[in-house]
Amino acid sequence: MTETRIARVALPGPLDELFDYLPGVMGHPEPGTRVLVPFGRSRRVGILVEYAAECGCDPSRLKPVERALDPRPLFAPADLTLIRWAARYYRHPLGDALFTALPARLREPGPLLASGVAAIRLTAAGAALTPAELARAPRQQALLARLLDSPEGVAQHNLDEELGGITSALRALRAKGVVESCRLASGAVASADSSAVSAAPELNPEQAAALAAVSEALGGFRPFLLDGITGSGKTEVYIRAIAEVVAAGGQALVMVPEIGLTPQLRERFRTRLPGPLAVLHSALAAGERERAWHQASSGEAPVVLGTRSAVFVPLPRLALIVVDEEHDPSLKQQEGFRYSARDLAVRRAQLVGCPVVLGTATPALETLHNVTAGRYHRLSLPRRAGGARPPTINLLDIRNQPLRAGLSPVLRERMHAALAAGGQVLLLLNRRGYAPVLTCHSCGWVGVCPDCDARMTLHLGERRLWCHHCGRIESVPHDCPQCGGPDLRMLGRGTERLEEGLTELFPGVRIARIDRDSTRRKGELTRLLAAVHRGEVQILLGTQMLAKGHDFPGVTLAGVIDLDHALYASDFRAPERTAQLIVQVAGRAGRAERAGEVVLQTRHPEHPLLQSLLREGYGGFARAALAEREAAQLPPFTYLALLRAEAPEQEAALAFLAAARAHAEPLCSPEVELLGPVPAPLSRRAGRHRAQLLVQCAQRPALQHFLAHWTPALRALRRIKGVRWSLDVDPQEMV
Ligand SMILES: [Zn+2]
Ligand SMILES: [Zn+2]
Repeated sequence: MTETRIARVALPGPLDELFDYLPGVMGHPEPGTRVLVPFGRSRRVGILVEYAAECGCDPSRLKPVERALDPRPLFAPADLTLIRWAARYYRHPLGDALFTALPARLREPGPLLASGVAAIRLTAAGAALTPAELARAPRQQALLARLLDSPEGVAQHNLDEELGGITSALRALRAKGVVESCRLASGAVASADSSAVSAAPELNPEQAAALAAVSEALGGFRPFLLDGITGSGKTEVYIRAIAEVVAAGGQALVMVPEIGLTPQLRERFRTRLPGPLAVLHSALAAGERERAWHQASSGEAPVVLGTRSAVFVPLPRLALIVVDEEHDPSLKQQEGFRYSARDLAVRRAQLVGCPVVLGTATPALETLHNVTAGRYHRLSLPRRAGGARPPTINLLDIRNQPLRAGLSPVLRERMHAALAAGGQVLLLLNRRGYAPVLTCHSCGWVGVCPDCDARMTLHLGERRLWCHHCGRIESVPHDCPQCGGPDLRMLGRGTERLEEGLTELFPGVRIARIDRDSTRRKGELTRLLAAVHRGEVQILLGTQMLAKGHDFPGVTLAGVIDLDHALYASDFRAPERTAQLIVQVAGRAGRAERAGEVVLQTRHPEHPLLQSLLREGYGGFARAALAEREAAQLPPFTYLALLRAEAPEQEAALAFLAAARAHAEPLCSPEVELLGPVPAPLSRRAGRHRAQLLVQCAQRPALQHFLAHWTPALRALRRIKGVRWSLDVDPQEMV
């Protein structure tokens, strides 16, 4: 007797359960395949997750699957296991989690891309042309010349990279019947010269030891913390380990917090590693993203470089995972499916049975705690590669100091000295715009966002007031909107104002500002960074973007303009983030022949965080901070889940959370503690009131057990009009 197997299918959307179907004509394709199923009166694309011997209902009432959409499963069993685990851990609907992991187009019933790589080649007519015949259209001429060199065709992305901006030239040539589309076998796509791998710099003993430890662990699960100061050559260790994996036929996954900020890293990967490099991040056009996804999931690309969502990309021969800048909070998704890509990378490595390397100069306290507990193995790179000396850090007490453009006399003097000696100066001010406050001197009016519990920032260049929380934009009033008085004043300082002040204080000195405003245009960041590297910029100022992975070897002095607001922020992670920022910025200063200098301006030089950083460096700070966390019973010594609710009225948000709490109380084991509901620190955003209920628990399994029972109750709660809620497991931001 043949057993009737039930196909269990996940559908996108907020549906927590799997749906049962009869396999029907599709037979029994492997789990991980997309299927088209009837749903209500419509049809939907779902993902076959598993087969079951029986269902909870009468099988005769089940409908059959219409058809399977793919000739092979899109997710291998290990991929499915990872995503199912993540959906359960972060309490997110499985269908939604699975579809998050797919390129957008595959959420529709269309077929997979044809195999091979999209390419362009000359038609017979095109091959008969000479470049001279297109002299009046230089871009078309360049394209023709390139294609004449490769009669078999050139991958479209290679053309884009080599020539740039070819869309209209291609269109013109296509219209003339000169070129046509084709597909290239993946082996034919240009990639890095394998000789480049051997042209690598020599490793110092610590790098060699770290590499040896990782290569020895290949083939089995082992988590490493690669704890290396900035400039110690972590990337070189990654590249060597990856090269080894690729040479043995494996694939490596490298995750970074933000790819747009690390063009240098991408370039090193491209030139040093063989095979096409699949790059995956959210700023890609849908087609590019899908192409990279195929290169990764077909195994054609041996190396995948991506942001957090890359953690889910199917990789049939995955043999090594690297998470660079593992401390960076942007590795945690802050909306929708709120997963930590770092933590999932470790879980994935465990499922696949491969090493995972978490690299950083400033390890997250959670990661250090895992090292202490013996779960992660620490590899240290305490020296800068090439023998450069680490910078000295000085605290500068600016109480009662006459500041000009926010700079104390001592900092200004150091800047002059550094510039005179031919060095570059880096200034960090973690606040963009011109001034954070616009106020009326006569009546005290302050420009606040009508939709948020926040002030609007003045952006003078664009002549507007801008709310950094909801994005609301207003024009700058001429006179006071409240009393009509003319005396409006700007208080505080953002990067825009700092730049203006520097222009006055350092006439003739070339200055570049790097923040989200100055780099909004595509390619602008790369252009600014290149100018800094060529030495065309002498003073570089900006927000924390400066501390994210760029190397500035010419910088000999780094200044942090204003630390103080970060020292006293309400989030318990603020000291950790501040210490990381300082150390990351400090890491940009100094070079081989001369140690750099870091100056921190503060009105609280006695602050214990600054003192421990100064005396004992990041390691000492981290020990002190971990002791504080343990005493206060905060993560990583406890585990948190944050239930957030927002509504047009504060009462509605609080009422929802009160009901949620009432449902939680009978489910709580003694270890589970409920805190709240309370209004959120930013209690109103974009016109909606926000409140939260915190769940704290000493043990992760007990918290998970509680959440497994609580989440269905939350979904079943009587709906309160206008209330939206979300659950954040292991939250990184408490606002
Ligand atoms: Zn006024
Ligand atoms: Zn706002």
